[in-house]
Amino acid sequence: MTRRKLIAGNWKMNGLKADAVALAEAVCSKYSSLENKTFDMFIAPPFTVLDAVCDVVADSGVWVGGQDCSVFEKGAHTGDVSPVMLKDLGCGGVIVGHSERRADHFETNELVKDKASAALSAGLGVIICVGETLEEREVGKTLEVVGAQVKGSVPENATAGKVVIAYEPVWAIGTGKVPTTEEVEEVHAYIRQVLADVLGTDIAENMQILYGGSVKPSNAAELLGLPDVDGALIGGASLKAEDFWAIAETVM
Ligand code: PEP
Repeated sequence: MTRRKLIAGNWKMNGLKADAVALAEAVCSKYSSLENKTFDMFIAPPFTVLDAVCDVVADSGVWVGGQDCSVFEKGAHTGDVSPVMLKDLGCGGVIVGHSERRADHFETNELVKDKASAALSAGLGVIICVGETLEEREVGKTLEVVGAQVKGSVPENATAGKVVIAYEPVWAIGTGKVPTTEEVEEVHAYIRQVLADVLGTDIAENMQILYGGSVKPSNAAELLGLPDVDGALIGGASLKAEDFWAIAETVM
């Protein structure tokens, strides 16, 4: 089974327009100059610069998207952004269920699933994030927690072409701490098994599962070389074009 690798950047709440355009230009010029695009690239800038970044990305082949979306298409939901609006801007996808949203905005698996469903209905691809806290890992609950998140957050109509899972241990995000390769592979293989139970073997075998949490140029080759790791969701290192590209180079 050869699944295409996906290198995804989550810019979080970083970047004013000029920086965002410059970063997107740097990434896109490298990606579009590749003769053979053997992997996919996705960037998720903040909403405020999405329009400008969508213009830069246009014909480069880089996939761009939001970091969250509403479950609603439109209406009285102050401050929210609908998946239809993202699609209208030129986005191809959206991240849902990031641990920072689960923690800061009390997002439940049910809500994440509804967001994913709304995004799919709008024609967007979806990256659904799951991952355990340090306390959960320390008491041996990692697989139980992550399995429940996958079962609770992935819509029944998810397909491998439209849905990507990102395993991001909460304690590894932005901390410089990374699980061992054995720990990463164990969780990824388990996620694939859960996906097979809920969506069937064919979809599970084809669905990309990304690792996220302190991925850097120095550890990317090892993590991205694991059998069930199909790419990375990168926060901090995606804000520097050289680092983001150096990570991408490990899958070329
Ligand atoms: C993230 O926020 O999705 C992430 C993985 O961040 P970092 O790479 O900075 O740990």
